[in-house]
Amino acid sequence: MHCLDCHAQGTATTAVGVCHDCGAGVCTGHARVTDRSVRRDPVVGAPHEAVARTVRCPQCATASTAA
Ligand SMILES: [Zn+2]
Ligand SMILES: [Zn+2]
Repeated sequence: MHCLDCHAQGTATTAVGVCHDCGAGVCTGHARVTDRSVRRDPVVGAPHEAVARTVRCPQCATASTAA
C-alpha cells in the first residue's frame, strides 16, 4: 500500500500505517500519531490507565483537532 497524500502529490511512498478515520495509507512523513488513554478494567487486579495510540492522515488529524 502507498501513502494517499504522497500519491496525491504524484509520488509513491510506502505506507507505514492506516488512518484511523478514513482508512487511507500514510507514510512516516504524513502520519499524525496521537496518544489517548484507555481505561483497562481487568477481572483480576486493579483497573489502570493504559496509553494507546491513534494514527491519522493529515486531513483527519486537522479535522479531529478542529472539532
Ligand atoms: Zn506521505
Ligand atoms: Zn484520514
